[in-house]
Amino acid sequence: MTFTTRFAPSPTGPLHLGHAYSALLAHGMARDHGGRFLLRIEDIDTSRARPEYETQIYDDLTWLGLTWETPVLRQSDNIKIYWQAIDRSWESGLIYPCTCNRRDIQAALSAPQEGVTPSGPDGPIYPGTCRHAPDPDAPIPNDAALRLNMARAIPLLHDLRYTETGENAGEIDFGAEDLTRTLGDIVLARRGMGTSYHLSVVMDDAAQGVTHVVRGADLTDATRIHVVLQRLMGLPSPTYHHHRLIRDEAGKRLAKRDDARAIAKYRADGATPQDIRKMVGLHDLQPLGAASSSTTSPSRTAR
Ligand code: GLU
Repeated sequence: MTFTTRFAPSPTGPLHLGHAYSALLAHGMARDHGGRFLLRIEDIDTSRARPEYETQIYDDLTWLGLTWETPVLRQSDNIKIYWQAIDRSWESGLIYPCTCNRRDIQAALSAPQEGVTPSGPDGPIYPGTCRHAPDPDAPIPNDAALRLNMARAIPLLHDLRYTETGENAGEIDFGAEDLTRTLGDIVLARRGMGTSYHLSVVMDDAAQGVTHVVRGADLTDATRIHVVLQRLMGLPSPTYHHHRLIRDEAGKRLAKRDDARAIAKYRADGATPQDIRKMVGLHDLQPLGAASSSTTSPSRTAR
């Protein structure tokens, strides 16, 4: 199987040094393995995605010397496919509508008898207020979040394992029994926002034949959600490489709003791509530009 990896930014702000590190690392790994490097634009959150940030992604990555296959997949072009998966889950009774808002969830969780608020990769574990088996023949309501009924999913889950090649390399094997407590009823779609990041990332990685997911350690916990969804949908699990995070002087991880560390800002201040590689600790990486045979010129139009 050809080594295939991807860089999957969301165009919700300027790329910063952390993104540069992730993209350079993934690109370098693809090259070292004679493999493929894909760019995917994760723009399903239409309330926050902006075309100008997407354009800036192409500009910054091109400036860094990266090349990728075209056409570039944009998640906003795939919405129908994600909803087909939601329809199937609805018909099989695996998801239910939830009308709780954050405040409802907090109130239910802070009931005195509950003790410590349990938390998972997506925040507080949903207490199950709306959990019930909806009528699969009824239409999916469009005014609710759709949650996975984890207790119903558990009997269908086998082989919850994946290979990790990042700093904590090894075979990660986790049982299904604790999932109601550790992951809970995760949201797979949300009103006004379409399907969730978890669902679309899992479907796209499989559809694009991604064999190695290279991404920040902040997403390590989310990987268990992704493996659960892969098993439920009969999809293979790629190998995961969760890399260290680039932090500021105070040790805080960089955020999209951290414009001071935006690649564009460094460019405007006269930095070179080699300076960026040094800043993120990848100065040993061979100079870029030696594109693999399956790679073509970058596309700004993404289509
Ligand atoms: N789109 C996600 C982000 O920008 C990354 C998803 C992934 O690499 O799996 O944080």
